[in-house]
Amino acid sequence: MISDHKDRISSIKLSKVKLPLLKSISDAKVIQGKQAPLVDVDILLSQINTSEGRSGLGFSYALRIGGEAQFAHAKEIAPLLIGEDPSRISEIWDKLVWASASIGRSGLSVQSIAAFDIALWDLKARKARVSLAKLIGSPWDSVPCYNTSGGYLQAPVEEIIEKAHQSRSRGIAGVKIKIGQDDVQKDYQRVAAVRKSLGDEVPIMVDVNQQWKRKEALNNCLLFSDLGLTWIEEPLDAHDFGGHAQLSARVNTPIATGEMLSSAREHFDLMNQRGADIVQPDAPRVGGITPFLKVASEAERLELGLAPHFVMEIHIHLAASSRVEPWIEHFEWLEPLFNERLQIKDGRIVVPTQPGLGLTISDRVSEWTQAETTFSS
Ligand SMILES: [Mg+2]
Repeated sequence: MISDHKDRISSIKLSKVKLPLLKSISDAKVIQGKQAPLVDVDILLSQINTSEGRSGLGFSYALRIGGEAQFAHAKEIAPLLIGEDPSRISEIWDKLVWASASIGRSGLSVQSIAAFDIALWDLKARKARVSLAKLIGSPWDSVPCYNTSGGYLQAPVEEIIEKAHQSRSRGIAGVKIKIGQDDVQKDYQRVAAVRKSLGDEVPIMVDVNQQWKRKEALNNCLLFSDLGLTWIEEPLDAHDFGGHAQLSARVNTPIATGEMLSSAREHFDLMNQRGADIVQPDAPRVGGITPFLKVASEAERLELGLAPHFVMEIHIHLAASSRVEPWIEHFEWLEPLFNERLQIKDGRIVVPTQPGLGLTISDRVSEWTQAETTFSS
């Protein structure tokens, strides 16, 4: 295709960053012996520069395993971007997917592409001198938020309650509590104690992290029905769309899922099987903003809720595009990467108004950078 624009991608800097967490954390997958406690987050940073002096910042991430491979794949495909018109984002996305075709169109391959795709969207919005939210036509100036980082399973319930009150006093509306232990009564007692302490009006979500089986899930969901939960998240295996659909049809509490899906196509399958009342796409995990927007638009067509997973720094712009009022997940984990902080007020995160994502990399990132490579024309 012919491009009228003269601006071209002239260089790309890739960095592999291992960002430590202040505290190791465990969800049900850890308690059940399937994964190690989480102690850090692997970040794949991409900074794209153009011949006209513009730049864009994007990143992808991996938890526990996969950071090395995402970085390696990004290094393989980065040269293909040099000389491209940065405004042609979907064509670049297709080009990178075709180049990587032998390793598939989901998972790790598109997660590496996500770092470039997000940087190109940031660049486009910066060029237009509007926030990413404005560029994509988002109607919301702020989005209701809930905290997740205070509700993990390694924490005693007293600590969860204390953190929940801290979140509330910071202006965060709701809290999510991790469940999925072998004894569901123990889970119930923890959540009931939080409900009692916070009162009936505070939104509370629970997250099973895929640990229930079909035969027990319905009774377990019904057990929690008197706690007024905003949603029950990932009650079943993330790819059991039919099982999630059965629960969604039979349980009054909304069913939320989708964070583990790693392509738009998987989300379409989930939604077409009615496997979620609230979908939880994750832009870096599904391949970037380009596929995320397709997922969000299908969710809107089906009148489903939208509550993107993790990475609030990117998702605040994208969640704000939903006409059904979305939720944003508050995690402070990635804050040390950036100079900016999202503003939280009256239960909501304010959509940033600075151009692009509104993010710049903090000086501290050099402490955690394990490898860097620059490609140029
Ligand atoms: Mg979750």
